[in-house]
Amino acid sequence: MSGEKNGQVLIVGAGASGMMAAVWAARSGARPLLLEHMDRPGKKILSTGNGRCNFTNRVQTPDCYRCGQPDFPAAALQAFSAEETLAFFEELGIWPKERNGYYYPNSDQAASVREALLLELNRLQVRMETGCQIRRLAGREGGFLAETDRGTLEAGALILAAGSCAAPATGSDGSGYQLASSLGHRIETPLPALVQLRCREKDFRQMAGVRAEGRIQLYSGDGRGNWTWEAQDQGELQLTEYGLSGIPVFQVSRYASAALHKGRQVKASVSFLPGFEEWEAAKFLNRRRKQLADRGAGGFLNGLLNQKLGLALLYRAGIRPEEPVSRIPKEAWEALVRQITSFEAHVTGTNSFDQAQVCCGGVDVRQVCPETMESRLVPGLFFAGEILDVDGICGGYNLQWAWSSGRLAGICATKAALERKTGKEQKR
Ligand SMILES: Cc1cc2nc3c(=O)[nH]c(=O)nc-3n(C[C@H](O)[C@H](O)[C@H](O)COP(=O)(O)OP(=O)(O)OC[C@H]3O[C@@H](n4cnc5c(N)ncnc54)[C@H](O)[C@@H]3O)c2cc1C
Repeated sequence: MSGEKNGQVLIVGAGASGMMAAVWAARSGARPLLLEHMDRPGKKILSTGNGRCNFTNRVQTPDCYRCGQPDFPAAALQAFSAEETLAFFEELGIWPKERNGYYYPNSDQAASVREALLLELNRLQVRMETGCQIRRLAGREGGFLAETDRGTLEAGALILAAGSCAAPATGSDGSGYQLASSLGHRIETPLPALVQLRCREKDFRQMAGVRAEGRIQLYSGDGRGNWTWEAQDQGELQLTEYGLSGIPVFQVSRYASAALHKGRQVKASVSFLPGFEEWEAAKFLNRRRKQLADRGAGGFLNGLLNQKLGLALLYRAGIRPEEPVSRIPKEAWEALVRQITSFEAHVTGTNSFDQAQVCCGGVDVRQVCPETMESRLVPGLFFAGEILDVDGICGGYNLQWAWSSGRLAGICATKAALERKTGKEQKR
């Protein structure tokens, strides 16, 4: 494998962004070589969207993407939008199916998306080395050297598309960050995101398995009783024996990770009547109390909240389920209303990278040009996908980032590699 010719684009990582970069590098006239350390490419794609791959979303607003520099993702996303992504995948045979703005392949199989990319790479005669371990990357005059377990490679441009450390079983084990920092790049500490929250309260054990509509608000505190609002989301919550899960919890989880990392306290406040403002909910519950005055407290909640959840909320408010609802003392009644509208959980941590869908943190984007994905430190070095300090919310945004940044890196790396090749030939 040693002594490959120049003009070549070397891509580390054959995941979503790496394969996309390779397609566009080949379409732009380069000879890309994909290096993947797993035995097969694109393993993470197979887990996406519960095996169905939510590959983009109709709604694209800046707040769907989070980044150390909030303006950074826009250039790549505008250069290759959700519409262009749909058109690209249709051209590759992926007929899209839309559910409330979320797009999936019509086959409902994530494997189809990986296969479509592999078929295109095959058509473009892109070379790929799987099971290939990279020992060292180094810049050299007019290009890069990659020392691998199979020999030394030369390239005019290098794209790091090695993912994050979320879901390491799929291959993205954080080694991409080491490669980036070996080339001089700063890494924002990667933390689990789109992940479950672990909570201190013991009564989660009694509520485990409950699914309930709710609005979650997340606060961080300085330990002296001062709380700052961080984020909120609404939808189906899942209560587990250790804490909170479900899409709305995933959406706010990166803020919990970041605050805990800074040593701050974190608490969640949940309303189980998310359709109501707090005062409306109190009014509604008071009306309902009059309507069902002859019932016990347990019966009063029947049909309003999940039974297990209702019982736990009654216990938290200090009310026995058989206590007649009309005779609940004022303080206990107010406590019950509070439990229903602002149920508190103290967040002690998140689940690990094994359960996280993505990471917040990664290659510091201040050292990367947003219009090209090229390093500002090392000419000819490019980045794509989750290795960068960009994370999307749930809903197809992380893959959209992989497609958009991968395409941009592939095109711009090709230009850089070809320019370097021409420069070298002219010197001779
Ligand atoms: C369970 C789950 C469900 C998800 N669902 C969705 C969804 O429905 N929609 C959505 O938009 N996003 C989803 N995501 C997130 C999405 O999958 C990722 O954001 C996306 O795959 C990132 O693409 P990437 O190319 O940057 O990284 P990856 O897909 O992780 O690819 C990186 C590749 O680099 C390889 N690699 C790593 N280090 C090295 C090395 N040192 N040498 C060689 N190769 C290396 C890895 O093996 C891997 O193949 C989900 C993630 C998970 C875990």
